[in-house]
Amino acid sequence: MDVCAKQPRSSYESTEMQLKTILNGTTNYKSFVFGKIWWERDTPEGYIAVEIEPRKNSKAICSECGRLCPTYDTAQEPREFEFVPLWMIPVYFLYKMRRVSCPEHGVIVEGVPWGDGKNTQTIEMRQFLANWARRLSWSETAECFRTTFGKVQRAVKWIVDWGLKHRDLEGVKSIGVDEVQIHKGQNYATLVYQIDNENKRLLDVEKDRSEESLEKFFDKLDTEGLEGKEVKEEEKRSKKIEWACSDMWKPYMNVIAKICTNALNILDRFHVKGHLTKAVDETRKEDVRKLKEEGREEILKKSKYIFLKNPENLTCRQAEKLSELLGYNLRVVRAYLMKEDFERFWEYKSAYWAGRFLDDWCARAMRSKIEPMKKFVQTIRDHRDLLMNWFASQGLSSGVVEGFNNKVKLTTRKGYGFRTFEALETVLYHTLGKLPEPESTHRFW
Ligand SMILES: [Zn+2]
Repeated sequence: MDVCAKQPRSSYESTEMQLKTILNGTTNYKSFVFGKIWWERDTPEGYIAVEIEPRKNSKAICSECGRLCPTYDTAQEPREFEFVPLWMIPVYFLYKMRRVSCPEHGVIVEGVPWGDGKNTQTIEMRQFLANWARRLSWSETAECFRTTFGKVQRAVKWIVDWGLKHRDLEGVKSIGVDEVQIHKGQNYATLVYQIDNENKRLLDVEKDRSEESLEKFFDKLDTEGLEGKEVKEEEKRSKKIEWACSDMWKPYMNVIAKICTNALNILDRFHVKGHLTKAVDETRKEDVRKLKEEGREEILKKSKYIFLKNPENLTCRQAEKLSELLGYNLRVVRAYLMKEDFERFWEYKSAYWAGRFLDDWCARAMRSKIEPMKKFVQTIRDHRDLLMNWFASQGLSSGVVEGFNNKVKLTTRKGYGFRTFEALETVLYHTLGKLPEPESTHRFW
């Protein structure tokens, strides 16, 4: 490295040798050797240039099939590949690409182990950025490593695509289906998770929340990695699913019943609670309207989140307000108490007694004459079997789908600038997909 041009030649050479040693120790490009290395000072910081040459008598490989082929020609100008920065000084590999004549693919550019195709980032650099992008936002990553948002996004996308190509979808026994609202309005995405004890991960992201969305997932599950292989109907991965956990959303339930013929569909505790919470909130809104007519709307002011939160999460002031509200014979208070009471359902060990409790609870809710609660009862009664399946699964889904749902919200809320569905898909797979990564000689992050 040309730290100072006036240095004696021997010192310059030994510095170069040291960088070479480090590069050789952290990479493994078998048929290539590092050549000249120097610090190019076109700007104060400049960049470190590293020449790469083919090892003597080594043959190039076809970038399409990996076959060793005779060289057709060699480029005049070297191509630049961005490597992991050293002390925040950018590092570029310079390599004169060869073209080979492949018996199958004709004259084609050679394959090199540090990169591929037209991507100017080395695989190490992509992995480096992508791994930081898991801890920082994409724009923070770009800022910290003096690159652009687009380059970070492409790096993450590449890692995700690699991971999806190399992941293993065998052995999925339990799945959870959830929907998330993307942006404002009626844009939804369907997310499918594996929720087995030994492996919990995001399996799929699809647009919308229709039957088609979930069908697309099962199609992926049954065919991914099996291209061209014939799989018998009963051998399909979707037939090996034992538990499918979802909301009471008709399109999902229809597809699960149609495709996962060996699975029990379970209603997720977290989704059931969501419906119940919504019923309480609707009751509150009705009460606010009534109190307003009577000029007493002060009573329910700032109470919305008190009824939505779990009692143990209330602040001191909220808890005080709640105990004050409990003194009024308001419908929302009664609905709230019913909601809290419903939690007991999940505590039962015996499905029989849980069923008795459920029917009893429903009868009481119907007698309350509170419309939103009666509507909830109707939904529950329509899906009683699926709700009771929860006991057969021994509380399998408890918390897992909810945990993922929270992480998804956190990821999308961070304001990474995921304006497109594609970016959202990439970031979710990247953070929750537990995808495999290309092996590297050294961890640069
Ligand atoms: Zn080839």
